Amino acid sequence: MMRPQVHDDAAIDWHALAREVKAYARELGFVRAGIASPEPIESYAIYARWVQAGYHGEMHYLARPDAMAKRADPRRVLPEVQSILVLAAPYPAADKHAAPTDDEPRGRVASYAWGDDYHHVLPKRMRAIVRFLEARVGHPFPYRYYTDTGPVLERALAQRAGLGWIGKNSCLIVPRYGSYVFLAEIFLGLPLPADPPFPTDLCAHCDRCVRACPTQAILPNRTLDARRCLSYLTIEHRAAIPEALREAVGTWVFGCDICQMVCPWNRRFAPAQGDPAFAPRPELPFPRLRFELNLDEAAFRAKFRRNPVKRAKRRGYLRNVAVALGNARDPRAVPELAHALRHEPEPLVREHVAWALGQIRSPEAQAALRAALATEPDPRVRAAIQAALRAGEGAEPPSSPPPGEGSDPLRKQDRAASGNAASAPAEPEAPPKDP
Ligand code: SF4
Ligand code: SF4
Repeated sequence: MMRPQVHDDAAIDWHALAREVKAYARELGFVRAGIASPEPIESYAIYARWVQAGYHGEMHYLARPDAMAKRADPRRVLPEVQSILVLAAPYPAADKHAAPTDDEPRGRVASYAWGDDYHHVLPKRMRAIVRFLEARVGHPFPYRYYTDTGPVLERALAQRAGLGWIGKNSCLIVPRYGSYVFLAEIFLGLPLPADPPFPTDLCAHCDRCVRACPTQAILPNRTLDARRCLSYLTIEHRAAIPEALREAVGTWVFGCDICQMVCPWNRRFAPAQGDPAFAPRPELPFPRLRFELNLDEAAFRAKFRRNPVKRAKRRGYLRNVAVALGNARDPRAVPELAHALRHEPEPLVREHVAWALGQIRSPEAQAALRAALATEPDPRVRAAIQAALRAGEGAEPPSSPPPGEGSDPLRKQDRAASGNAASAPAEPEAPPKDP
């Protein structure tokens, strides 16, 4: 008969093991590692009210009762959990990278998506940490790990593990690294001693992120109205981007970094490059918008293989590209937009292409819209073409952008944000002491 295995862990020095595993995590590329106790999450009520108010939009998985219960109490994720190892790995700092100055209309991709997908990179490292701990304790133990993939309030756990504080833009801000970090958590059936929580809110009176957000998506309680946030609208949202918000999208084609780019903690401390595993792939940070419209399904898959952008799917990405081209208002894009309006198979994309041509308002754009209206079978797209024609009728073409601004509306957003900086606090002079 098989007997349950009994392990004598009494001889293990858990404090020493905690130090060893954190050192091993650093060897693997995590710049911070801390240990949280698995008590219920104190700030869960804020999350519950956020869901109740519908701020999660169409991300229904966030509101599932079973997932809500797990977010409230880590022991519902793993009943045997005794400690949670929380880890941070940095990605490139968007504010340290400028778009090429070739005057080609360019889009912007959030910097977490410039390189390999963290969902592919980080689980391997977490598995290595589990193997390391198994070797040290001499037996298997229950565990579970996540990186933005499970029913876990990971920023609350990271704050509890001493990694940093939750900024007003809702990101975790790590002293000396800023907020361009991926978080990862390993729930452990081992009694590693907890670290003290991060004690301070270092946002103080700053509100740069709140004022810079182009859609006023930042709520007063360190949460976001996802329905207004460009990260949600350009990635998770599957339908048309609400017209009232399209101009605010600027040239972001996947995600948005504005509220991180203006943060003084990032501007002063965030390393430009981050972990080499997330190094930017050529052409990914600032794609040439006109040519993105030519991506068919196979080319889209090949370009974004093992990269986060694939989450938007081709139709969502090209929808965003069309909006960005409309905001860039560059008449050189009319041939590509006209071709897409006639030949793009996805009605959602054609609808946004029509809007883009309506924003450009040149005679060529109007001609392309009229030609497409003669053959367009989809009622939503027809309505979009008619609205775009009305927008262009009798309207002056948009004025040229100011010198040096090119066709990049983000530069205007940057200017607006820095114009507000007069009343913002000075950038931090020195890093706060690590907890
Ligand atoms: S990611 Fe962009 S849209 Fe979303 S809250 Fe930050 S600044 Fe606003
Ligand atoms: S910009 Fe200011 S308020 Fe916003 S997260 Fe950074 S420090 Fe906090």
